[in-house]
Amino acid sequence: MSKTRLREHNIVVKDLREVSIFVGYCYPSTYRAGMTGLATHLFYALLNTRSDVSCERYFRFDVPSPVHSLETSRPLSENHIVAFSLTWEEDIVNLIQMLELGSIAIEAKDRDENSPIVLVGGPVVSSNPEPYVDFVDAFAIGEGDLVIHDVIDAVKNSSSRLDALQDLSEIPGVYVPAAEPSSVARIIIDDLDSLVYPTSQIIPEVPEGSLFEPVFGRSFLVEVTRGCGHSCKFCLIGHICRPRRIRSLDRLKEIIAHGLESSPVNKVSLIGSSLGDHDGLEDLAHWIVGQGVDLSAPSLRADSITLELLEAFVKGGQRTLTIAPEAGSTKLRKVMGKGLDDEDIDRAVRIAKDAGYKAVKLYFIIGLPDESQEDITAIARMVKQLARKYSIRTTASVNPFVPKAHTRWEGEVQPTVEALREKLKLIEAGIRDTPRVTMEGVDPRNTRIQAALSVGDRSIGKVIQLAAKYGGLGGWRRAEKESGIPFFSLANDTRYADGELPWSFITN
Ligand code: SF4
Repeated sequence: MSKTRLREHNIVVKDLREVSIFVGYCYPSTYRAGMTGLATHLFYALLNTRSDVSCERYFRFDVPSPVHSLETSRPLSENHIVAFSLTWEEDIVNLIQMLELGSIAIEAKDRDENSPIVLVGGPVVSSNPEPYVDFVDAFAIGEGDLVIHDVIDAVKNSSSRLDALQDLSEIPGVYVPAAEPSSVARIIIDDLDSLVYPTSQIIPEVPEGSLFEPVFGRSFLVEVTRGCGHSCKFCLIGHICRPRRIRSLDRLKEIIAHGLESSPVNKVSLIGSSLGDHDGLEDLAHWIVGQGVDLSAPSLRADSITLELLEAFVKGGQRTLTIAPEAGSTKLRKVMGKGLDDEDIDRAVRIAKDAGYKAVKLYFIIGLPDESQEDITAIARMVKQLARKYSIRTTASVNPFVPKAHTRWEGEVQPTVEALREKLKLIEAGIRDTPRVTMEGVDPRNTRIQAALSVGDRSIGKVIQLAAKYGGLGGWRRAEKESGIPFFSLANDTRYADGELPWSFITN
């Protein structure tokens, strides 16, 4: 990015005379990825509504500097708290690079009284923080909407950094590794309606298609649900964000009405897992379109789709329906607890076609426990049949299984990269030359890193630190070799399956 200032609506620059706590909110990846997530808008708003706090943003990539805030160029190290949101395991290397570039000691043990407190939250660490303990002073485990205020108060009222860390360790849902707690309970908030919601969201003033345009465009993000009422054996959200909670229809309409007044957008993007399980979704979708804005939704469960619902999304400008069959066969879907049969998926695509969608995107996972070759060929067969039967553009997004801590498949292994590539080849061969069908997915080498980080313990900190130093995929290989720690094999190993799990001290 050039040094020219990016123009953004709704940024906050505080009168520093009133401020006593400075927070650097950091997203350890691109500006676009960080600004697409609700967490950035949420914590920015929650913190800046306090008169005693100034929160400014930092991103690793595509900004003039990863260690000077976008708002006022405040140096990262001049914050009291440097708070990261870790959404993807591999972004830990970017986090470490940001600390180093910002002249903050990489390892928590090397920080002194003048160092900021490095706080990390997000689904990755709420599931298994152990691989990252070397670099982090405190973790927010679970949902941080309310805890963040306790964290600020603890830091504000403490007499020293050590004192602050001691006080932080006593807050439910905050894990301070140095305090060596015997257990930490994940924070789950009961009532979404009572929470403060960010209605003035930051919108970059950039042309469509720009590198800085968030993935959903000029859009107001609305969290409709949290957690999920289902519990597919592989799914992190289905296990660590229980139970499913919803916002009431009245509260959602109130939030959107305020959001459309306060944020210069032309679209509303709904956020949440298993959105279709919200009884009022159809009503909400038609109401939003009636406000004269576009509308989009993430993946919907195939069995929750109705023609009336999809017609609202088509009116709102959505052209691609995303659903997640996860497996090609009903048998394997039953094994994983997905509870969808082939007919549900066929019906969803038929309704999409009838409603006026131009394309469908289907998410699949390969390398699942109990998967047979027939389950793999069934993926290609399903994609091909749907594209032909409904003459609709069909994208198969095929990604390797990544075992996640706290799920029912936490002790299962990921097949080797070679085995995964064989499976991908089989699917590619099955759909080759089929009109309107394309395939995409994450490189199995990357998912192997994700798997190792998901189920690793604190012994892999050395590998992570070296990988951050060298960078890229090759950096992880070099780090493994140099450290002598068998990092990659963790993905294909069952070494924890029968013993104490590194993450067992995190409780619900
Ligand atoms: S995969 Fe979807 S339906 Fe299953 S538990 Fe996760 S969010 Fe819920």
